Amino acid sequence: MKSSDKNLTNALIHLGRDNQSNGRSVNLPIHQASTMLFNTLEEFEEARSTRYDMGTLYYGRYGTPATFELENTMTHLEQGAGCVAVSSGLTACVISIMSFIKAGDHILVADTVYGPTRAFCDNVLSAYGVDVTYFDPLIGADVDQFIQDNTQVVFFEAPGSSTFEVPNIPAISEAARKSGAVSILDGTWATPLYCQPLKLGVDVVVHSGSKYLSGHSDAMLGFIVSSSKEHYRTTRKMSLFIGDRVGGNDVFLALRGLRTLSVRLRQHAENTQKCLDWLAQQSEVERILYPAHPDCPGHEFWQRDFAGATGLFSVIFKPGYETQIRTMINSLSLFGIGLSWGGFESLAIPVDPSPFRTATTWSSEGPVVRFHIGLEDPESLILDLENGFKFLK
Ligand SMILES: *Cc1c(COP(=O)(O)O)cnc(C)c1O
Repeated sequence: MKSSDKNLTNALIHLGRDNQSNGRSVNLPIHQASTMLFNTLEEFEEARSTRYDMGTLYYGRYGTPATFELENTMTHLEQGAGCVAVSSGLTACVISIMSFIKAGDHILVADTVYGPTRAFCDNVLSAYGVDVTYFDPLIGADVDQFIQDNTQVVFFEAPGSSTFEVPNIPAISEAARKSGAVSILDGTWATPLYCQPLKLGVDVVVHSGSKYLSGHSDAMLGFIVSSSKEHYRTTRKMSLFIGDRVGGNDVFLALRGLRTLSVRLRQHAENTQKCLDWLAQQSEVERILYPAHPDCPGHEFWQRDFAGATGLFSVIFKPGYETQIRTMINSLSLFGIGLSWGGFESLAIPVDPSPFRTATTWSSEGPVVRFHIGLEDPESLILDLENGFKFLK
């Protein structure tokens, strides 16, 4: 383990607990608040004048001591200048974009971003007079050919949703910086433990906190972590202008989930590798899309820029199995059918990347299944897959 990894592992255990009012308990209490009370009008007015600052207790929507502890923990994990906790991962994508864009501007968006992020760009940004151009995430420094005078944001994701292309993060963020645009990266898949985009030159990194960070499929929140105080202030203000907030219970669950992130990810990765070793040998499998797998587009960038791989990947099956795949998924007993991932449980759903692309074309013919490998016993997961694959004959 590198010393930076050691530091992160220790930080997960010890950060975010520095609270005077926790009644000697290890964990912070669930902090529920709307009204906050002041002893004097002068105190109240002082809080109002600094209400946009990190740590000011003013009114529940602006954050509680537990929200600030969680935000400080994420800031530290990403080595950033500040973090805004928001109500979902999608909100983190949306608010980070809105922080740096206005009518008449242009935004560059990677073709493989999370579907609902794309839906926001197509349905909302376009209606508010922002021009959207999608680009091939594997284009690297050549992204500069799409940069216009009014390009204010370059938004991308590492790796891409469902198809896992790993972009050249330093090259794309450098191209954005040269043109004066803000680079925003959705880093949900890797978590700050396995990739630290701010160190690679990205200006703002966003996460869904509903996935591995909280890790138990029971919380919804997101994070926006900025490389500079200025970007931090801009994103925090935008979240407050919009009126977004994270509930106290979700803050509690995220802080608790983070404590075990390091061991959970290690086990997700180990189980995933075992399942992939089995899957790679099956004649029905055409290709595995997983950043740590040599077949994955951009694998070399994963090798260079990431410290590990998590438990989400896709499998392209050979053409002809379209209906059998459905029976196979329905037959699995340890793999649930449902959205999201990053919890302790395994999941499998069919995905169709083709309708969501405009800058690139999806050329694989066979059906694609996205798997999340959970913390079950890996031999049992393989047995379950073996039984399911019997329907592919
Ligand atoms: C799930 C996901 C999101 C959205 O997160 P929610 O917390 O579900 O809103 C954003 N980006 C990526 C890459 C995701 O996988």
